[in-house]
This record gives sequence, C-alpha cells and structure tokens, in this order.
Amino acid sequence: MSAKTVAAPRVLVVGAGLTGAIAARRLLASHAVHVELWDSAAAVGGRMRNEVLTTDGHHLLTDSGAQYITMAEGVAEIPAHSELYAGLRGAGLLTAMKGRIQGGRAADGDGTNFVCRGGFTSMVSWLLETATASERPPVSLGRSVESLDLVRTDGAARWRANYAGASAEYDAVVLTPPAPELLPLLGGGDGAAWLDATAEGALRPALEGLQFSSRYALRCETQLQPISSLQNYYPSYLAG
Ligand SMILES: Cc1cc2nc3c(=O)[nH]c(=O)nc-3n(C[C@H](O)[C@H](O)[C@H](O)COP(=O)(O)OP(=O)(O)OC[C@H]3O[C@@H](n4cnc5c(N)ncnc54)[C@H](O)[C@@H]3O)c2cc1C
Repeated sequence: MSAKTVAAPRVLVVGAGLTGAIAARRLLASHAVHVELWDSAAAVGGRMRNEVLTTDGHHLLTDSGAQYITMAEGVAEIPAHSELYAGLRGAGLLTAMKGRIQGGRAADGDGTNFVCRGGFTSMVSWLLETATASERPPVSLGRSVESLDLVRTDGAARWRANYAGASAEYDAVVLTPPAPELLPLLGGGDGAAWLDATAEGALRPALEGLQFSSRYALRCETQLQPISSLQNYYPSYLAG
C-alpha cells in the first residue's frame, strides 16, 4: 500500500493591501498552507498607496492613502507587533515622525507616529517580500473576484472563486476588501449562511451598518523636485 500524500491546504487571500499582506505572513509563518493573493488593482498596497511622478529625471513621491501609522502605547509589549515594527524600522522603511498633527483623533490614542520613507506601498511590498525567508506568496494583480461559491465534492467543502469567466478552488478564503465590497461577493447562497447565523448573532447587519470616515489626500505641485529636496522644505518633518 502506498502512503497517501496530503496536499497542503490552499488559502486564497482576496486583497493585497495591508490586511492581506499581514494575513498572508501570519498564515505562512504558522501553518503548513499554500497561500495566494489576488487583487483587482494593478499594484499591491490597497489604500496604502503612493504615486511617483517622474519628469526630467526627477521624482516626486506622495502618499495618496495612509500617510502615517501610529504605534499605539502598549503595542511594544505584544511580540507579534513589536517584531513587525522592529523589522520595518530595521529595513529603513518606518521613521518616527516629528511633524505635529492638528486635531488628534481618539482612534489614534497615544503612541508614536511613523512615516514611510519609500511611501506606504513599499511597506506592503516589504511585508509580502519578507513573508518567509524563502517564499514570497504569489500575487495575481488585476484579478478581481466576482463571486465566491461554496461547493461540495465528495463530502468536502471548498470555495470556488470566480473571476473573468474562469474560477479556482481553495480550502479557505480570507476576505480583506472593505465590507461594502466584500458582502456582494458572498451573495445569499450556502456560502453566506455564516453571515446570518453565528453564535455571536448575525454578522451581516453589523457589516452592512459599518460606517467609514472620510479621508482626503491633497497634493500640491509647484515645481517637481528631486525627492532628496524634501529635506530642504521640511527639515524637521523626518526624524533621523
Ligand atoms: C486618503 C486616505 C488617507 C488615510 N490616512 C491614514 C493614515 O494617515 N493613517 C492610517 O493608519 N490609516 C489611514 N488610512 C486608512 C488606511 O489606509 C486603511 O485603513 C488601510 O490601508 C486598509 O488596509 P486594508 O488592507 O484593510 O484594506 P485595502 O487597503 O482597502 O485593501 C483591500 C484590497 O482589496 C482589493 N479588492 C477589493 N475588492 C476586490 C475583489 N473583488 N477582488 C480582488 N481584490 C479586491 C482592493 O483593490 C484593495 O487592494 C487612510 C485611508 C485613505 C483612503
């Protein structure tokens, strides 16, 4: 009798923003699973997005999504968080921000704010590239999940992710799009039953009732300058 080979469970992470990148890292670090990411956008990053304008050999980098992140007080005591911050700082990506933020938000709490020298897209890229010492999870860009079906074959349930007239099957799916984009993917079929009947109560109304606060990113361009000239304009903006 030959030994039966059990294939590693296949997990699809929908979205290659910050949440998708962190989820992929955690899955790869702690489980013997095969992880893939799909994102409908042309680049990783999601709302951690930056843009580079190039003209005459000069580059202007802007964050058009998140512009700083806050390492809340107490986070340093949580190993999973402190290791991540140490890695990002060690890689030269996160730098403590000296600039003052007018109108503090209660959600930020107290803590240290960091800016990302390479733009926040580079932080998400780094999280994916260093997911494990040997493996960068495959990312399919420009691939939009149109719907997810729960299919049962020989008693085993799997998720079928449909995209552009094709589909692929996975043992588990991690959904990271914002709730208004996520709920239509599950529809009302078998695969959405857990949204309507959970031990904690129905999740669907809670997700449907989520509210998002407005965020605006303003970029003023007078004359394109080399990125290094930012230091001339904002000498106290970047620490160290
Ligand atoms: C202008 C602006 C300023 C902000 N400023 C700050 C800040 O200063 N500090 C801070 O901490 N936070 C800030 N935020 C919030 C922060 O950017 C987000 O909380 C964070 O990036 C969310 O990451 P996420 O991975 O959860 O979601 P997202 O970044 O939204 O990632 C979800 C991903 O899913 C993909 N996706 C969606 N639907 C599908 C589909 N059907 N198939 C495949 N892929 C799909 C999307 O393309 C996207 O890449 C700001 C946000 C904005 C918009």
